[in-house]
Amino acid sequence: MATDRAKPEKIRCDACPVMCFIADGKAGACDRYANHGGDLVRLDALTIIESTENTRLVPFMKDSSGPNDWDGDIVQGKRPFVTAVGAGTTYPDYKPAPFIVSQEVEGVDMVTVVTEGIFSYCGVKVKIDTDRHIGHERDIVRVDGEPIGHVMTSEYGSKMLSLGGVEHLTGGSKKEGRVTCDALLRLCNREAVEMVIGDEGHETTVVVQAGKAPIINGVEEKLMRVGCGSATIGMFAKQWVDHVDDVVVVDDHITGVLSEHQAGKLLDVEPTGIKINGRRSTPGRYFNVAEPGTGWGGTDIEDPLTILGDFNAKFAREGLKLLMVSTTGEQYGYYELDADLKPQSADIPPALKASAELIAENCEPSVCSVLFMGGAGGSLRAGVTENPVRLTKSVKDSLTFVSCGGAEAFVWPGGGITVMVDVLDMPTGSFGYVPTPALVAPIEFTMRVSDYGTLGGHMNEIKPVADVVSDETRKVDQFQNQPDPMASANYRWAKGTSG
Ligand code: SF4
Repeated sequence: MATDRAKPEKIRCDACPVMCFIADGKAGACDRYANHGGDLVRLDALTIIESTENTRLVPFMKDSSGPNDWDGDIVQGKRPFVTAVGAGTTYPDYKPAPFIVSQEVEGVDMVTVVTEGIFSYCGVKVKIDTDRHIGHERDIVRVDGEPIGHVMTSEYGSKMLSLGGVEHLTGGSKKEGRVTCDALLRLCNREAVEMVIGDEGHETTVVVQAGKAPIINGVEEKLMRVGCGSATIGMFAKQWVDHVDDVVVVDDHITGVLSEHQAGKLLDVEPTGIKINGRRSTPGRYFNVAEPGTGWGGTDIEDPLTILGDFNAKFAREGLKLLMVSTTGEQYGYYELDADLKPQSADIPPALKASAELIAENCEPSVCSVLFMGGAGGSLRAGVTENPVRLTKSVKDSLTFVSCGGAEAFVWPGGGITVMVDVLDMPTGSFGYVPTPALVAPIEFTMRVSDYGTLGGHMNEIKPVADVVSDETRKVDQFQNQPDPMASANYRWAKGTSG
């Protein structure tokens, strides 16, 4: 705004509770808004996902953060979907969402309500494909010395972290909130974050980046195990029976022993008198053979013989052949019993070496997955409709499709609209923050215009999509694995169960 003063007047950004005063040419505290000659502008371009009917969706083609050379043609079979990336936020809550956009799709008038939500209640769930021990369940995860989350229950072949959440964003010290918000932002925007898990004396350093292999204590993980020790015995038993007398698959969770396992029994493998130092669960399946660690099969051992007791002379014999292998096939050792029935290391026969390599070959690459999880609270929903609970009901009734940056969001059952989405399915740079602190994430609600009216939507704010799309919008192509949010297949009314 022009003034007579030499110093330009600051303008107030009202897009979040911080309410920054921003001088001309400067950006606000979150770097998302700036004062351009007295106008408050959103610095990132609005992002449009372009899909074509009956065309397979393709990976992002132009993935820059600025405008591109899209000619704005929306009538030649290229259907734009307006995402909330770069759309801006509204505050306080009674204001309509920044963009409420309509277009006809397959003869149906559809509307998408688009906003960058400010999520105080949000976090990420991280899945790290590794057998290596990164921490015990409930161990604290720290970044820059601040607690930002904890280790959750492991899943099959993967360790799990729960990071962020209102407990860390607002429930601790100011620094804890700031560090947590920054770590979440970087993880969601696909950047690497180094974290330390566990307390002094048993700490593990892990570098997590969405879509990349984890780096655990400085070592990049390569493979996700093919299965637990017992499953590996079951899968590969046939490969082994003609070449070896017994096989032990070393695993921190379930170590498998061929001669005792049901698979070995069915293949007529004779008892070998082997003794495993662990807790026997069922035949050929042992728990607690060692401590968790970064050695063989997620245990702390580097020498697999340490998990063996003395062989039973009733069944064992000199020359008995033993293969020991980890759950990823990366570590293996071949042994033969000497006259004292002690295993002695020997050159591994080619067939057994090939079997270990086959295990490794059947392992998938180890990657980190980062899923953003947040709850669209009453305030965010109020930007969509004057009756927020009707939006929740509409989502549960499959009349409204929820997406984040165009990526399909998993909506949790139960109350509210609590969504979870893989950040790799979203355009790059989808996330921002405000210093309250909270994460800013895109969220879109798409439905029929008629349903929008029924749930009390801001009907006067609807604009045709052609009014929103311009040369300034950033265009990205949609991922192959993502549905078109406007496709009728997403909606109950198209399935004949509702009018
Ligand atoms: S932090 Fe960002 S969104 Fe919030 S008032 Fe400041 S510039 Fe606006």
